Amino acid sequence: MSETLSENRPAPLLRISQRHLETLQTCPRQFQHVFLDRLEPPISSQQQESMAVGSRFHLLMQQRSLGLPVESLVDADPQIRQWWDEFLAATPELLASQGGELAFRQAEHERTLEMLGFLLVVRYDFILADDRAQIFDWKTYPRPRSPQNLENHWQTRLYSYVLAETSDYEPDRISMTYWFVPGEDNCPQSYSFPYSQQQHDRNRADLTRLLSQLHHWLSDYSCDQVFPTQQELTGVCTLCPSGNCRYLPQGDTPPESLRKRDFSLEETDWSNLDRIPEIPI
Ligand code: SF4
Repeated sequence: MSETLSENRPAPLLRISQRHLETLQTCPRQFQHVFLDRLEPPISSQQQESMAVGSRFHLLMQQRSLGLPVESLVDADPQIRQWWDEFLAATPELLASQGGELAFRQAEHERTLEMLGFLLVVRYDFILADDRAQIFDWKTYPRPRSPQNLENHWQTRLYSYVLAETSDYEPDRISMTYWFVPGEDNCPQSYSFPYSQQQHDRNRADLTRLLSQLHHWLSDYSCDQVFPTQQELTGVCTLCPSGNCRYLPQGDTPPESLRKRDFSLEETDWSNLDRIPEIPI
């Protein structure tokens, strides 16, 4: 007699991107509203347009790195044409032949790393690896004045961390470079951040703390508890002009919209960031 066994497949891991980490670190309640409750206002037409232009520029860079013709993409949009001409003039060798024959070069390269029951996910706009590994990211907005926020942003930290953990490259042989178009005076500009063992250790410690907290908050959330606000954790809200959180403290009755828990986390497509506009760093 044969017995039928039910499938014993583990639950899929929740995918965590740099956007999730940055939002969670800034304000856990904001994370809940954006990724779990979907309470974000609809994207404006201006945001949609800038997302579309940004996507076209990324597609162009991907085509070029694959050695495919790009003229039809460039000619279809005067904005893209201008950025492209400026970018080529500033970095003529970047996507062409830098790194030599044996270098690994790939656009839209995705890597994943399992950590504390989550799946950390990164997608590099472009990666060039030979004796060193260089990660590149294209931003279609002007370069920020100070590199400090960019260096401390989870995109910089997570991208370097995952590469060090999933490849043979030691941290001090990894770097992350952001290119910004449009730049100043029609010249794209960049910031580069070398990685180190010290930063790697700090990133591991901070990821461990943040993901452990997320486990805890998700567990509470499944029991109708809201995530804490930045104001509750630090005494101030840095995102509100008033400096005061507009939501109720823990323990008070949350509004009706937050009390409806009619989905499971597994069913929630919280990893789809395509519909969420990129926030300039
Ligand atoms: S108002 Fe500020 S503290 Fe309150 S949820 Fe929003 S970001 Fe967080």
